[in-house]
Amino acid sequence: MFSTLRSRLWLTYALMIATALVVITIIFFIYLLRNPPALRQLTVQMNLALNVLSQKNENWSDLSLARTERYLTEQDEIFGVRFLLLSPARVLLIDTRAGETPALAANKLIRLTRLTQIVEDANGKRWLTVVRKLSDGRFLVAAAPRPVVSVLSVLTDEFLPPIFQGGLVSLALALILAFGVARWVADPLQRLVGAAGQFPAQGAKPLPLDGPQEVRELVNAFNQMTDRVQFSQKSQKDFVANVSHELKTPLTSVQGFAQALLDGTAETPEVQRAAAQIIYDEAGRMHRMVLDLLDLARLDAGTLELKRGMVDVSALLANTVEKFLPQAGRAGVQIAFSGSTVPLISGDGDRLAQVFTNLVENSLKFTAAGGRVLLNAALVGDGLDVKVSDTGIGIAEKALPYIFERFYQADTARQGGEKHGAGLGLSIVSEIVRAHGGKISVQSSPGQGSVFTVSLPLVSPDASTLVRKKR
Ligand code: ADP
Repeated sequence: MFSTLRSRLWLTYALMIATALVVITIIFFIYLLRNPPALRQLTVQMNLALNVLSQKNENWSDLSLARTERYLTEQDEIFGVRFLLLSPARVLLIDTRAGETPALAANKLIRLTRLTQIVEDANGKRWLTVVRKLSDGRFLVAAAPRPVVSVLSVLTDEFLPPIFQGGLVSLALALILAFGVARWVADPLQRLVGAAGQFPAQGAKPLPLDGPQEVRELVNAFNQMTDRVQFSQKSQKDFVANVSHELKTPLTSVQGFAQALLDGTAETPEVQRAAAQIIYDEAGRMHRMVLDLLDLARLDAGTLELKRGMVDVSALLANTVEKFLPQAGRAGVQIAFSGSTVPLISGDGDRLAQVFTNLVENSLKFTAAGGRVLLNAALVGDGLDVKVSDTGIGIAEKALPYIFERFYQADTARQGGEKHGAGLGLSIVSEIVRAHGGKISVQSSPGQGSVFTVSLPLVSPDASTLVRKKR
């Protein structure tokens, strides 16, 4: 029944109001039962009587005890107050109502320093008493039964109706307040439920940030989550489209040349050889792409294991240069390693070799004859910077932010037939570098060349050998 936010809020308010009213009622009730106004009135009345009698004390101080008693009994009738006279030694001499009412213990009457006090008589009835010391040293006590108010009259007469009316008005106000607050909280939540229910079928527009802070944070988190989901859906679609696109071209060409070989269109041995070569090259390209995709899949899944050891980066770079010397020679490009010897670093030698091979391959691919490719390693702070620089075609400024993305190829590269890759190399490179706790950056100006900088920590902060998935 009280499952909605609105009804729960109202219930909470109602309970709070009811609790407050009950507490206030109890406090007032106790206050009224004690009835301090009546008590005060009686005290004033008794003080007045004592004042009059103590002022006239000279007139009656010399009277005999019997006459004094008569005098005080008269005063009792006039003032409607019981009088007790005590000797200076506090012995009860006179009690104007001695016969009719139970006695009041004389010692209790002036035991306290307080002039006004409540004293019980022998029957347990409570009396309000006021003591006055007379000029002759005796004590005159005025006593009157303590005023008692009946519980029922307190409840019915003055007390319950306003509390009841106030309670009703407060409950009505609570209902309005609960309704307003619930709308403030529930409306954005309701929108969130609607949007979550429709997602991803309807796509998602960011929801407005309304309501209290916590709800706004929730809606904001939801907006960010839908953004990420949409981004990853789009990446997935792009990925499939890119893979099919990248495979379609070599497959068409393989199919075409195989057909030519089969149906005899390629007649001469030279043409046949050229066709076989193309089939071989394209198959090799597809093979490399499938291997790259496998690497990326493992990097994504976090299952690519780094075989960590101490790696001599200088030796690795020198080997890379040596490996590419023949290819660079054929392309008419100078290649060299110009770094000093640097300390060993912790990492996977094979994977780091893959990084530098890939960078050098790219540099050679995009550097024309007469150009230069330079490898360099240097200690920077508590890390190592490896630079692969070339004097090649460079990368357009607008392409720079994207070159580490999967399947990204700058347009200029696409035209280069031979140079055509799948756009996966640099994304694998950056994942491997990241897995080593390092980072890769690039500086390039078109027509002048590019510099790729791989920064690696000397000791990887991440002791794990698994390549963790990027979050
Ligand atoms: P690909 O396998 O197509 O070369 P990469 O991920 O290795 O893919 O590179 C992405 C793109 O970055 C390339 O298509 C090319 O446009 C650009 N690029 C990479 N390295 C260089 C370089 N040294 N000089 C100029 N452009 C480069």
